[in-house]
Amino acid sequence: MALNFIANQSCNAASGQTLAVLDPSYGEAFDTIPRSAATDLDAAVQAARSAATSTWGKLTAAERGRLLHKLSVAITANGEELWALEQRDCGKPTAQAKADVVALARYFEFYAGSADKLHGQTIPYLDGYSVLTWREPHGVTGHVIPWNYPMQIFGRSVGASLAAGNACVVKPSEDACLSLIRVAQIAAEVGFPAGAINIVCGLGHEVGADLAKHPGIDHISFTGSPHVGTLIAQMAAERHCPVTLELGGKSPQIVFADADLDAALPFLVNAIIQNSGQTCSAGSRVLIERSIYEPLLARLATAFERLRVGPAAMNLDLGPLIRQTQQQRVWDFLSDAQVAGIPMVAQGVVVDDAPESGFYQAPTLLRDVPVNHRIAQEEVFGPVLCALPFADEDDAVTLANATKFGLVAGIWTRDGARQLRMAKRVQAGQVFINNYGAGGGVELPFGGYKSSGHGREKGFEALYGFTTLKTVAIRHG
Ligand code: NAD
Repeated sequence: MALNFIANQSCNAASGQTLAVLDPSYGEAFDTIPRSAATDLDAAVQAARSAATSTWGKLTAAERGRLLHKLSVAITANGEELWALEQRDCGKPTAQAKADVVALARYFEFYAGSADKLHGQTIPYLDGYSVLTWREPHGVTGHVIPWNYPMQIFGRSVGASLAAGNACVVKPSEDACLSLIRVAQIAAEVGFPAGAINIVCGLGHEVGADLAKHPGIDHISFTGSPHVGTLIAQMAAERHCPVTLELGGKSPQIVFADADLDAALPFLVNAIIQNSGQTCSAGSRVLIERSIYEPLLARLATAFERLRVGPAAMNLDLGPLIRQTQQQRVWDFLSDAQVAGIPMVAQGVVVDDAPESGFYQAPTLLRDVPVNHRIAQEEVFGPVLCALPFADEDDAVTLANATKFGLVAGIWTRDGARQLRMAKRVQAGQVFINNYGAGGGVELPFGGYKSSGHGREKGFEALYGFTTLKTVAIRHG
């Protein structure tokens, strides 16, 4: 039975209610988490406030950095346990689950080093004045986290927030709490003071909404769907609480005829199959210059047909989707595409060993997808790649920017001037040229244009969002 972690103590919800934890590879329950309510959240906010104003808040930036670094080292030391938890909870193939632990440790390493390098400025002003700015922590930050990369998203948002001097209240997805509870315990073991990191499990529309409305939360970092992002921003707006929104995407990979196709091919495939397509920055649209449309589609088809899907522990190309409703969502998109006559080029294979009760979906390549069809516009959040041909650079830009999203774009061309022209014209928070990072590295600021959200996480830039700026003007004559 997994428990909340509040003020460095494991505790159940005050109500004693629990929720089942499913293993997506088998569709079976294997654990429970607390179904927390407002009273549990109150306790977490109180613990965080106390840490922010006393223990944690009183540490120097260098001391915070040292503790963050200790946590990074301890995450690596406990890596086996963490990836195994994440694998069972989220259905991640072993390679992905292990990569997520590496990324988590790296986030804490990066933000450990940043803690004492977050400086204000001095500003030239009138004669007889000195003006300076201070970057102050918000106080208590709330973190609402999705199920697709719990450890990575925890690392990037909680790591940066702690480095900036805040204390954190984390509401993981009800589908993926286990690894985060353990990370918070490890933080306590390495010396984080009570209340610096608190984990409150429960349902989104219950304790998640309570967090968005809570007057003791001074900033909210939300990663999740555009729909819930809107709800959270509306609730937070009632009390003018700042919100960072990291939402979905329909990211294009744009392949010009002069591209190195041997180099591009594995990136085009991996960007849509990673984590079974349940990645905000999945490259879910491939825009191909017309003269290479047929040959590249043929190569993609061969690659798709070789892909294997099965239980997470088999460590195949893809594991299961997170839950049955997600599987149904993907089926609904594919059935709409079929009704619209969108041709399916190729599919991978769900292996015979995959249990019927697991939530499997073969990766699917569609071609000639009309730009306005919902499968080319909306986030499927499954392993479905839509191919569309384009005529020239202008056409490629129009197609790339033709959705409400703007998270990531990939551009494949050997023409240096075109690389820069395209990077300028594509509306996306990250643009990869002749590579595709599916979210990019820890060091690289990440976030959306348009409905993909606002604010930036990752890299040094994230630290600014987790602070508020105070300007001090001194008249000394
Ligand atoms: P979701 O929006 O359903 O849930 C995200 C979190 O919000 C969960 O913790 C959930 O419990 C909580 N929540 C749900 N309803 C709520 C409510 N009414 N009030 C407060 N909290 C509520 O998203 P998901 O299905 O967990 O994750 C998939 C989505 O996340 C996709 O759209 C994906 O693109 C997006 N995502 C974005 C990024 C990014 O960095 N841009 C990264 C990962 C995932």
